[in-house]
Amino acid sequence: MKPAPFAYERARSLDHAIELIGGAEDARVLAGGQSLIATLNMRLSRPQLIVDINRVSGLDRITLRDGYLEIGALVRYAQAERSAEIAAHAPLFAKALPFIGHPAIRNRGTIGGSIAFGDPAAELPACFVALDGEAVIAGPSGTRVVKADAFYKGLFETALTPRDVLTAIRLPAATGETRTGFAEFARRHGDYAMAGLAATARTSGKTPSDVRLVFFGVGTAPVRARAAEAALAAGDIEASVAALAKDLDPPDDVQATGAVKRRLAGVLLKRVAAGLMGNAS
Ligand SMILES: Cc1cc2nc3c(=O)[nH]c(=O)nc-3n(C[C@H](O)[C@H](O)[C@H](O)COP(=O)(O)OP(=O)(O)OC[C@H]3O[C@@H](n4cnc5c(N)ncnc54)[C@H](O)[C@@H]3O)c2cc1C
Repeated sequence: MKPAPFAYERARSLDHAIELIGGAEDARVLAGGQSLIATLNMRLSRPQLIVDINRVSGLDRITLRDGYLEIGALVRYAQAERSAEIAAHAPLFAKALPFIGHPAIRNRGTIGGSIAFGDPAAELPACFVALDGEAVIAGPSGTRVVKADAFYKGLFETALTPRDVLTAIRLPAATGETRTGFAEFARRHGDYAMAGLAATARTSGKTPSDVRLVFFGVGTAPVRARAAEAALAAGDIEASVAALAKDLDPPDDVQATGAVKRRLAGVLLKRVAAGLMGNAS
């Protein structure tokens, strides 16, 4: 299929992008195009105007500042995969990036596009929530910052309004006490996951603290497993796996039944739990 007709504008700056978006009844930001173009072609989306932000300068930087790693919205997955800053300060992202699609998709797709699109089976939104990150959002009334826990509201629904541009995300930089774990089940490497887990914890004593277990592919958005987090923080892996029965209620989808997804979630948790409690980062 071909997309429905739309107008196209290339934004010269962030202010120009916001002005263009604000002037149209139904505009969409174009970043890497790896999801947007497919939804246009399938006519799942029929915007009047596409605002291309690829030439907006300053959105493709990775900066360490005040204990946070700030990743610009236009940083491509491939750039992030090669980034020494991400490897050192956001090791959970470094672990997750190779699981996203294939090299051609990672050459174009952007970190901001993944976070803003919020596909419930995508890797990075779950990592963003697990890391307790922040979204930096520019809109007609200025810039605001939204915590990751408040960013995802439902199926493809986020704190972004149709007038906003996500300009960056901020992730607390890893310290010597940070532990992270990432695992997913996909039918083939590069496919969207049937179920996945992004996890973080702090390890200073015998048991981990600040445990955050965020599953993807099991709900309408990234799902925090709070009962399992509490059990793991008490040092009990088996109880943590059992607690997933309270935390997760995955719907059936084209990939697997909800029952299979819940079972897979338990296996994933067992895989990452030892690393969260031990020495590996
Ligand atoms: C074959 C294939 C396999 C894939 N496999 C995976 C996978 O395994 N895991 C995975 O996570 N993804 C996968 N993807 C999707 C890919 O990761 C996309 O790149 C990503 O979802 C969107 O990023 P983008 O930069 O391409 O955004 P675009 O496609 O340009 O935009 C996506 C949506 O986000 C909005 N948007 C983009 N940037 C911003 C911004 N800065 N501010 C506000 N709104 C914005 C757009 O308006 C649009 O609605 C796959 C894609 C393909 C084609």
